Amino acid sequence: MSFKDKVVLVTGGSRGIGKAIAIKFGELGCKVAINYNQNKDKALEVADYINKNCDGICKIYQCNVTKEEDVKKMVSEIEKELGSVDILVNNAGITKDNIILRLKEQDFDDVFDVNIKGAFFCIKAVSRGMMKKRYGKIINISSVVGFTGNIGQSNYVVTKSGLIGLTKSVALELSSRGIRVNAVAPGFIETEMTESLPDDVKKVMLEKIPLGYFGKPEDVANAVVFLASEEADYITGTTIHVNGGMYLP
Ligand code: NDP
Repeated sequence: MSFKDKVVLVTGGSRGIGKAIAIKFGELGCKVAINYNQNKDKALEVADYINKNCDGICKIYQCNVTKEEDVKKMVSEIEKELGSVDILVNNAGITKDNIILRLKEQDFDDVFDVNIKGAFFCIKAVSRGMMKKRYGKIINISSVVGFTGNIGQSNYVVTKSGLIGLTKSVALELSSRGIRVNAVAPGFIETEMTESLPDDVKKVMLEKIPLGYFGKPEDVANAVVFLASEEADYITGTTIHVNGGMYLP
């Protein structure tokens, strides 16, 4: 796979899955733009690691992806400092779980704003540059629950299945410009997002995974890198499931 000097933007690259994706692209020689929202120290740690240990170079960009103007500013800074974005990974995501009767409108909106509007703003901001180059790869991080539904996560599930619709529509719109748009739907991956779940919930989840173990952020990163590679150039509008057999489409 050849990624030398490709410019990659990973949203939410300061932790968890986004961190693993950023490091993988750094190892492959990319120029990596790590977006973070609150955790500057963690984003800096990831960038330092890439700059010291990998072939690629890395810079960090603070931006709350729910603010369109800030997203535009971030993308134009990246264009000035690293070049126009070749690969966008919409990874930033949050949960605010509750059963439907207790779910507050604000919690619904907050999750929607980060997971869907954030992805929408980032796609809009990078696609002009990609259209000019007639090249681009966009990968949206969905979730297994976007396909299965999940108790206590209706707001999150709406966003993760919504990302699949967004992926398909934008893939159709942009394919004539050489831009491929796909999704990766992780199952249960060991990160801070899942760490906080009670042990009994984790035990039940584990029983649902035919491979018998939780995934690692690197498992998701490998699928993302494949979709971003030239080897996946004939793939657009689809989803790779990385879930240990937990859900079979
Ligand atoms: P984490 O909670 O570990 O990390 C979330 C990342 O998103 C952080 O880097 C955070 O940045 C960033 N972020 C949150 N809000 C914003 C915002 N408004 N603007 C910019 N960045 C933001 O999550 P995971 O690594 O577990 O998950 C990554 C993605 O994978 C998410 O989209 C999640 O839904 C999806 N996923 C995760 C699964 C899992 O099992 N872990 C399963 C299926 C899907 P900062 O720290 O700087 O605030």
